[in-house]
Amino acid sequence: MNLKNEITGKTKDHLIWSEEDKTYVHREVFTQLKALKNVGRSKGIDLRILSGYRSFETQKNIVEKKIKGTLPILNDYGEVKDPKSLTPSTLLDSILRWSALPGFSRHHWGTDFDIYDKKTLPLNYQIQLVPEEYQKNGPFQKLSEWIESLSSSQKELGLSLPYKKDLGGVAKEPWHISFSALAPQYEETLTYDFFINFIHTNDIPLKKVILERSQEIYNRFIKAYFGCSTI
Ligand SMILES: [Zn+2]
Repeated sequence: MNLKNEITGKTKDHLIWSEEDKTYVHREVFTQLKALKNVGRSKGIDLRILSGYRSFETQKNIVEKKIKGTLPILNDYGEVKDPKSLTPSTLLDSILRWSALPGFSRHHWGTDFDIYDKKTLPLNYQIQLVPEEYQKNGPFQKLSEWIESLSSSQKELGLSLPYKKDLGGVAKEPWHISFSALAPQYEETLTYDFFINFIHTNDIPLKKVILERSQEIYNRFIKAYFGCSTI
């Protein structure tokens, strides 16, 4: 087992393929995910995964597309920003609001998933992954309310919502769930030194500005969410 490679999306050794979910899942959370879906079914909720595991390369690709403008960069109101109108530093901020740096996405871990409810998904509807869809009168309001009630009452599932609140770094993401049993171990390894060393030794978009602002980026977008895994 190489914990550092597991954390940064550089290995799939810790994962198993879930045919039902069409994603890789951490072998230690496989049964919890199944159990959660079963509880959902009993409440009339068809919990599905929109996005599960992502490798370092996949995350890097997402960030590169946002820089090029082939994937939209949104502001907090869901409006598209033009990457060419931004300085490298504001471009970095705009991307990090919604997308993690390659190597530092919780989606590398196989413990975190973006979810929706197939039962309440309107016909021909394209999911945007915006908070409104998970709030009052949104298609996934029921799912969201159920998940929130679970995270405090069903401790045995080890479930948490790391991006439940906007802490001034990553935007609020009510669709992002995490099976947190492994998170303390990952978080312990993800020190500032680990972060800076990884940025130095890997090909990361916007590397120069990340290094210039390294302590602040680490604090705001990574460390701020540690411990949020235990609700
Ligand atoms: Zn997510």
